[in-house]
Amino acid sequence: MRRSGGFAIVRRATNPRSPPVPAQILDGRQIAQQMREKLRAARGQLGPQPIRLVSIEIGQNPAAAVYVRNQQRAAAEVGIEMEVRNLPLAATEADLLAAIRELNGRPEVAGVLVQRPLPPGIDPRVVQSAIDPHKDVEGMHPANMGAILYREPTLPPCTAAAAQHLALSTGMDLRGAETVVVGHSEIVGKPIAVLLLHRLSTVTVCHVGTRRLVDHTRRADILVVAVGKAGLVHGDMIKPGACVIDVGINQGPDGRIVGDVDFASAADVAGWITPVPGGVGPVTVAMLMRNTLRAAGATV
Ligand code: NAD
Repeated sequence: MRRSGGFAIVRRATNPRSPPVPAQILDGRQIAQQMREKLRAARGQLGPQPIRLVSIEIGQNPAAAVYVRNQQRAAAEVGIEMEVRNLPLAATEADLLAAIRELNGRPEVAGVLVQRPLPPGIDPRVVQSAIDPHKDVEGMHPANMGAILYREPTLPPCTAAAAQHLALSTGMDLRGAETVVVGHSEIVGKPIAVLLLHRLSTVTVCHVGTRRLVDHTRRADILVVAVGKAGLVHGDMIKPGACVIDVGINQGPDGRIVGDVDFASAADVAGWITPVPGGVGPVTVAMLMRNTLRAAGATV
């Protein structure tokens, strides 16, 4: 391993006859488990009063059900009471806003979370803006999103915080590292780019308008892909030794969940890579628990 400008680069086999060095897997399940242990200890410092996280869902979506179950398990492990409220599928935006306002006014509720996807006719931005920013544990209220431009906020968007945590877990020095974020959505791509910018990474954001994606991805010491297209990034688009964080969640042709990165070819080239499932997802849930404890007053 050599260092360049403070950034560790893993030396890859350059002789075509030498076998590729497989990437280290960034095991999100294990990293999330370690986080939950720390969070449980921090929760203990808040005393015996219950810490409540309320999740609101409209109708019942099978994809959301998996997330809710994972969130409930993580909450129980950390010592957070998670209440799941199901509004009927016919609920209107006004019904949802009324439920949020009621929870905003309840002091024992530390965090409020609205499950997606929302039915057509309900504007997610209006909904997110209605949550008290101090209870906005997903970190998506405009006040929390805006605060990201100044500094890392107390309640950052969970997926962005997870991507940053995974990049830091490699031990890489992010300062000066070439970081490429593919995807520029409000909830994922943009906040990831800004969080990594705060770490003095040199950040490029690619998106649907980017002309030659490969010209950018091949330069990346840290490559974060958050698009929602299976197989968008292949091994030949990755710089040898790079840290690859795959945020994408897609259903593969055989029904299995896959990321945006072709794992097999990428793992032969990258230095580190997150699997899907079992990478960014579990760490995102752990970040939701961290935000809930922070909303309850914990310093964690
Ligand atoms: P989105 O649809 O809002 O945004 C997609 C982004 O990809 C856009 O910025 C668009 O410009 C870009 N894009 C589209 N086609 C492209 C192309 N060919 N080349 C380069 N960029 C392209 O999606 P999102 O909400 O940001 O989610 C992205 C992915 O992340 C989805 O698969 C989603 O399921 C997943 N996700 C995962 C987590 C998690 O915790 N693991 C959380 C949220 C979202």
